[in-house]
Amino acid sequence: ADAAGAILNAPGLFLPSLPARRAAAHKGTFGTVAIVGGDTGTCGATLLSARAALSAGAGRVHAVMLGTGAPAYDAPHPEIMIRAADKFDWDSADALSVGAGMGRSDSARAVLGRAIETGKPAVLDADALNLLADDGALAARAAAAGDRFVLTPHPGEAARLLGTDTGTVEANRPGALRQLQQRFRCTVVLKGSGTLIGRVGAPALLNPTGNAGLASGGTGDVLGGLIGAFLAQRLSPGDAAAAAVYWHGRAAETLAERGIGPAGLTAGELAPEVRGLMNQA
Ligand code: AMP
Ligand code: MG
Repeated sequence: ADAAGAILNAPGLFLPSLPARRAAAHKGTFGTVAIVGGDTGTCGATLLSARAALSAGAGRVHAVMLGTGAPAYDAPHPEIMIRAADKFDWDSADALSVGAGMGRSDSARAVLGRAIETGKPAVLDADALNLLADDGALAARAAAAGDRFVLTPHPGEAARLLGTDTGTVEANRPGALRQLQQRFRCTVVLKGSGTLIGRVGAPALLNPTGNAGLASGGTGDVLGGLIGAFLAQRLSPGDAAAAAVYWHGRAAETLAERGIGPAGLTAGELAPEVRGLMNQA
């Protein structure tokens, strides 16, 4: 036991049941997730995240783009519905994943505020976290919104949120996790080797899966899409985060067993691997 209380890591704790794929299921059964980001020049991160949400079994996936220059559709995955942020119907989503490729423009800040206001379960990642670090009023609104968010900072983002430096976060990861949870009162995933998942009203988890193949661009965007898809399938924030972190790491391991990584593992390869693992579990 650590000062943060027990930190558990038995694999079974990470595997809550997803909704059964009953014969009479329809796409509404598995929820609609909106992946929100896509500033001009960074829509790739948003698409990567949206593809991961598809592979993790969301019924429908929107990719909501703030900027210009996004393709009209994603050629490998035309199932993804690409939307402009200013025309997006927020009511159409059951869950949100906000931040991948979003940038920190004024419109990004406004969209994050709108996302917080919807009352929907949401992942806040990447630039959504950086915007919260920059804007105390927005951070206070997020903190007041209850326990339906999942914050997914890497150590650098955690340091910005806490007003400290990355070395301090890494020197006491359970302490940083606890401070973030005290501030935001929601599920917090402190990423990096030995990812910690702080849940509301349950002990923290130390993820037992993953490898250094994950140390490449885009893997965090994939994780945000997986968590969003599990939220859309009505898992609780804590369960969605735990399952996604576990499968994401496990996918890196099983890919590496086949020589796909750790060197050269690409983020996009994780999502179909997660799909295979989930269906075989
Ligand atoms: P990001 O920095 O947002 O792209 O997220 C990187 C993702 O890869 C997170 O899920 C990290 O936990 C994971 N990751 C990065 N480096 C490692 C590592 N050395 N071992 C295990 N997981 C890692
Ligand atoms: Mg990231």
